[in-house]
Amino acid sequence: MPHLDATHDPAATTWVESGQTPGTEFPIQNLPFGVFSLHGHAVADDRIGVAIGDHVLDLYGCLEAQVAGFERSDLQAACQAPRLNALLALDRAAWREVRHEVFHLLTTDDAHLRSRVRRHLRAMDDVAMALPIAPGDYTDFYASLHHATNVGQMMRPDNPLLPNYKWVPIGYHGRSSSIVVSGTPVCRPSGQVRADDAAPPSVQPTRRLDYELEVGLVLGRGNAQGTAIALDDAEAHMFGVCLLNDWSARDLQAWEYQPLGPFLAKNFCTSLSPWVVTFEALEPFRCAPAARPDTDPAPLPYLRSRVHDVRGAIDLRLEVLLQTGRMRDEGRDPVGLSQGEFRQLYWTFAQMVAHHTVNGCNLRPGDLFGSGTVSGPSAGSRGSLLELAWRGTQPLQLPNGEQRRFLEDGDEVILRGWCEAPGRARIGLGTCRGRIEAAAGVEPLA
Ligand code: MN
Repeated sequence: MPHLDATHDPAATTWVESGQTPGTEFPIQNLPFGVFSLHGHAVADDRIGVAIGDHVLDLYGCLEAQVAGFERSDLQAACQAPRLNALLALDRAAWREVRHEVFHLLTTDDAHLRSRVRRHLRAMDDVAMALPIAPGDYTDFYASLHHATNVGQMMRPDNPLLPNYKWVPIGYHGRSSSIVVSGTPVCRPSGQVRADDAAPPSVQPTRRLDYELEVGLVLGRGNAQGTAIALDDAEAHMFGVCLLNDWSARDLQAWEYQPLGPFLAKNFCTSLSPWVVTFEALEPFRCAPAARPDTDPAPLPYLRSRVHDVRGAIDLRLEVLLQTGRMRDEGRDPVGLSQGEFRQLYWTFAQMVAHHTVNGCNLRPGDLFGSGTVSGPSAGSRGSLLELAWRGTQPLQLPNGEQRRFLEDGDEVILRGWCEAPGRARIGLGTCRGRIEAAAGVEPLA
């Protein structure tokens, strides 16, 4: 059963006008956490905020002015830190207390309190968003069976899906130093490419730059090394989700990926959306994972539970849009490339947590998981350009006559995500965007 309270009530209203605008991604039922600074301020001014409509509630300022307060003594310092990590290190009860306090401030009928809170509301246009977390370790999974099958067909036509796939949530350890917040330009990487099997490889800017539509999991409380997190305890360690773009250089990847998996093809840049939508906010949208065919093996016992069978997944819709440089010059809006359903994944975040720790590996607050590219069974639900244009063999036709096999300089990729269901308030994840810049010291590719 969903654990719903007053903060999920679709009839709840906020006195912040833009929080009541139909279609807003950040209504009073969402209350995602991020880190912002006022334009023109130094990095040292980064502070935690909560999104409401097109405004940010400055949590630091509310606490400083004693407009907000907490029962728990450890919460104030955690909410006045320049990143979410200290808050993540607490527990579900603490996260819930912050949510309820913010909900109270933004729904109060008390005119005096409203005017005090209003002083700590900033228009989103007046702030710059930063990375919400100081990312610890970053693990990228591969949880979409459709993505794994599509890519497998291109890389190994005779053996697309490896035999471990339906038993093991496959992942690799990524790099956290190159994680950037949405809006940060993405420089086209260079690296070793072997275009011709008869010739030696050469170093060049990638000609096969791609995006991957993924959902990021921000880990909360960690576990002690040597202990495992049971599937049904996983959610106590899961704080929230955001959008994640795992930029990938497919030509570098094809040459380097055997035998140890992705390396320089993916560690040059990973973009994150700035707002972390909490599992508290996602509560009304929890659902059963997609049914597996009867012919598939049942997950091993540590990856299976009755509760998980009922609510292990999230009913979350995803979308990728592209705006090329020429479209921008022509004043054209971004065009949708694909739509995805997060619940279709073969493995859930809880299963990834249980699997990641089954060997005693310790997770820490602020660690980040990527779900893996979210692709569905239909052509319109393929979550990467590699799949949409089928390794460049079926170029995408854009409405202005342009074609795309892979990303070109000036292209901007925009990820979006939202939850909606009858009788629930729709909530959004915001956007994750990144524009491709020419390789450093190299002429832009035509
Ligand atoms: Mn990926």
